[in-house]
Amino acid sequence: MASINVKFPDGAEKQFDAGVTTEEIAKSISISLAKRSVAGKFNDQIVDYRQPLTTDGSIEIIAGDSEDGLNVLRQTAAQVLANAIKQLFPNIHFGSGEGNADGFFFDTDNPAEDGKQISKDDLEAISLKMNEIIKQNLPISREVLSKADALALVGDDPYQQDLVNERADANNGEVVVYKQGDFVDLSDGAQLASTGKVRVFKLLSVAGAYWQGKSSNPMLQRIYGTAFLKQKDLDADLKRRQEARERDHRVIGNELDLFFVDPKVGNGLPYWMPNGATIRRQIERYIIDKEVANGYQHVYTPVLANLDVYKQSGHWDHYREDMFPPMDMGDGEQLELRPMNCPSHIQIYNHHIRSYRELPLRIAELGMMHRYEKSGALTGLSRVREMTLNDGHTFVALDQIEDEFKKILKLMVEVYEDFDISDYRFRLSYRDPENKEKYFDDDAMWERSQKMLKSAMDDMGLDYFEAEGEAAFYGPKLDVQTKTALGGEETLSTIQLDFLLPERFDLKYVGADGEEHRPVMIHRGLVSTMERFVAYLTEMYKGAFPTWLAPKQVTIIPVNNGAHGAYAETIRRRLATAGVRVSINDRNEKMGYKIRESQTKKVPYLLVVGDQEVANGSVSVRKYGEERTESEGVDMFIGAITQEIQHYSRG
Ligand code: ATP
Repeated sequence: MASINVKFPDGAEKQFDAGVTTEEIAKSISISLAKRSVAGKFNDQIVDYRQPLTTDGSIEIIAGDSEDGLNVLRQTAAQVLANAIKQLFPNIHFGSGEGNADGFFFDTDNPAEDGKQISKDDLEAISLKMNEIIKQNLPISREVLSKADALALVGDDPYQQDLVNERADANNGEVVVYKQGDFVDLSDGAQLASTGKVRVFKLLSVAGAYWQGKSSNPMLQRIYGTAFLKQKDLDADLKRRQEARERDHRVIGNELDLFFVDPKVGNGLPYWMPNGATIRRQIERYIIDKEVANGYQHVYTPVLANLDVYKQSGHWDHYREDMFPPMDMGDGEQLELRPMNCPSHIQIYNHHIRSYRELPLRIAELGMMHRYEKSGALTGLSRVREMTLNDGHTFVALDQIEDEFKKILKLMVEVYEDFDISDYRFRLSYRDPENKEKYFDDDAMWERSQKMLKSAMDDMGLDYFEAEGEAAFYGPKLDVQTKTALGGEETLSTIQLDFLLPERFDLKYVGADGEEHRPVMIHRGLVSTMERFVAYLTEMYKGAFPTWLAPKQVTIIPVNNGAHGAYAETIRRRLATAGVRVSINDRNEKMGYKIRESQTKKVPYLLVVGDQEVANGSVSVRKYGEERTESEGVDMFIGAITQEIQHYSRG
């Protein structure tokens, strides 16, 4: 029999008969290892414990309690879920299902005439059925079918037919299925040995998901759950999820009336309510002042431009998927909604002849742009289709790149400190050299700019990680990665090096030698788009914005409207004159209720005024999040709060 050569993580190599399984390899090392383990990673691909291995390769044995092991458990839980659903809804059609780092899910579509889809109300019955299947401890087996057999198996289920065709095409006409008793499913990846090994699970929710993520496809019902080895891990995860929900900017945005998105009016097109607009306005004022103080020249440029501009820039060739279709004006002109502001700032640069004395020339704008993001990716304010970027482009001479890069980074760190942002990491985003469509094809240019970026970071002694395929089409980026409440990671700030657009738009400056030279562009967004930044801050502050950003900064509650209303009004007027966002709550409700309301709206300061305060010209101050109340003179309170607010309003 032919044999294969298997390499272990410690470098050791061993021969096995071709067709050996990971389980057999584990047993050959030790029985206890075999018992603890659930699958293998063969040449970096997860393989089922019982899958025959037929080629040479490197192997890692996956322990049940490792991250990969948990994914195998969840993959099995996903199939138990599908099995339970099939028993309860025999005619159901299945989309995709999988186990992953976040839990597991399965997509379903009920073709029943009444059109009734699986809903939250069905989760309990499905859980009970899953528990039955787990108790039966059905053995799970993996089989490989021909395309014809797999098609016969899935019958008239259109989604499963699509999957069979896709997988067979990608896998020499073969399709892997997993069996749990009578239930057969097109599961992918590895599974545990029997259903009884899934013990601790919880079904979480049901939500719509387009088939294959495309909004032109039918909407399926996605049933979400999670599974763990131990109950205590599940409990901790459920608690984390609850906290994440409470932090979710969409939930807080609704509670504090910050913004809304109505798919009937336009998916990904947010409406900023007065409270959200106030927060945004403070950020806009802050960042414009800060940038002007740091040598940026702020401009306004149109959101629309002739399509030819984006053909010249390369957006049309490399970024078209993210762009709205051009508007045909009927007279031969085609107008395009800009997906980025760089070509606009290039027009500003090119409007005058530039001298080396002007460099670095820093152009900035709160620039509105439109990107046709996939509907499945749209999330509240953090991923939208219309957004306003705190954008800036610095035009520099070659020998100024490094210094300017460092200046931008220093400015960014300063801004982060003002917003108390400390949980982030740097990512150097490179092109994917294989992807010639997405990235401008000039190896030398990429090598040079990627190296430059890396050496600037090394020089500054900053930690970073590197990622291929995350660059802009025109050049590499330094991205600042932050975590969202839902556990994902997203880019907040970015600094990008660009040798391409100056070439494409024939940018020049007159050097000290009187000759024409080509500048380099540095693109940068300090506080991201207003949309993503407000989403991020809402989650980071859990809606309790610091005073300078809070939509309402002070609420005054008179103990008795008749006796203390006039005093409350005097204080309100004085605070408002000092620029504080303040209102009086003189509604006919109990004091306790009004105090609670101010707490739920997370207003930073609550002032209660009664007989004593009127008598000695004071206010009774309660700071958000604190239990105690302190009496303060009115002048002192106004002085302190205005100082607190002004501290951030500097440039
Ligand atoms: P992403 O990887 O998040 O799609 P990108 O690499 O396409 O972003 P850039 O072109 O560098 O983004 O845009 C600058 C910044 O704008 C990003 O760093 C991000 O903070 C923000 N941003 C990008 N797309 C969106 C969006 N659809 N909604 C809200 N903010 C966005």
